[in-house]
Amino acid sequence: EAEEDNSKSAAMPSVIPGWFSEISPMWPGEAHSLKVEKILFQGKSDYQNVMVFQSSTYGKVLVLDGVIQLTERDECAYQEMITHLPLCSIPNPKKVLVIGGGDGGVLREVSRHSSVEQIDICEIDKMVVDVSKQYFPDVAVGYNDPRVILHIGDGVAFLKAVPEGTYDAVIVDSSDPIGPAQELFEKPFFESVARALRPGGVVCTQAESIWLHMHIIEDIVSNCRQIFKGSVNYAWTTVPTYPSGVIGFMLCSTEGPPVDFKHPVNPIDADGALSKRPLKFYNSEIHTAAFCLPSFAKKVIDAK
Ligand code: SAM
Repeated sequence: EAEEDNSKSAAMPSVIPGWFSEISPMWPGEAHSLKVEKILFQGKSDYQNVMVFQSSTYGKVLVLDGVIQLTERDECAYQEMITHLPLCSIPNPKKVLVIGGGDGGVLREVSRHSSVEQIDICEIDKMVVDVSKQYFPDVAVGYNDPRVILHIGDGVAFLKAVPEGTYDAVIVDSSDPIGPAQELFEKPFFESVARALRPGGVVCTQAESIWLHMHIIEDIVSNCRQIFKGSVNYAWTTVPTYPSGVIGFMLCSTEGPPVDFKHPVNPIDADGALSKRPLKFYNSEIHTAAFCLPSFAKKVIDAK
């Protein structure tokens, strides 16, 4: 009987009447749920299932392969941190590459930096770009910046073709390592990132949750320590609609002018460039605080 119950629940669709539940082998035994007001879009691209729904408390929600990518209410906590942690840590970033990030939120944040001259983005799935422009105009507004050049394709292949030393900063805004983003968590990818950066250039990659994915984080950290000869750091932020409510970032620099990620040298003015949309989450104090780790995580990360 118990077996029968299990098979019933495994077959249950992730949209149960009135609620969306985020069920994945990446977080077994738990599932965060949001109440659905209305499903606005459902499609299948060459790479993944794409869904947008109106939630009752977090605004519109973008879901890829059953996993929440962003909600209107808390996307600021992710987009601002993944962008300004690296860009505020170096003086005068000029050339920036975003891998993934098809929603455009990271572009919106990069565009606050007036020193930046060129923003390349390589997103694998055009459907994510189109859907974001249609349903998330306040996020996809990043595409309106004339410095942005959109490349539709695999980020792994794109980076291999980049001439050595091209970028001041690379931001990897990927989905989880199940599906098209898998290679973005592997050693050869980090090697291409390091090659594509100028000496003293910086990378910031989405690096999962200290509550759920310590084994993945350990692998990323040990790969990065071998590849990035400048500095290697782990930071984190809170995002209520991500599994466990936290998400981390791996921040590394290549050999060259030293980068002290914990002390931003390029602070961003909260009332600056995009004054129509002030920063909601990031400030210089939270930048420094993001690198303080709970003891259990610090122990594992420092040992790698
Ligand atoms: N900011 C949200 C977050 O933290 O989860 C959104 C993540 S963003 C939408 C992740 C993007 O990475 C997706 O649009 C996905 O299509 C893209 N992606 C996955 N694998 C990729 C690859 N190999 N190359 C380029 N983009 C990829």
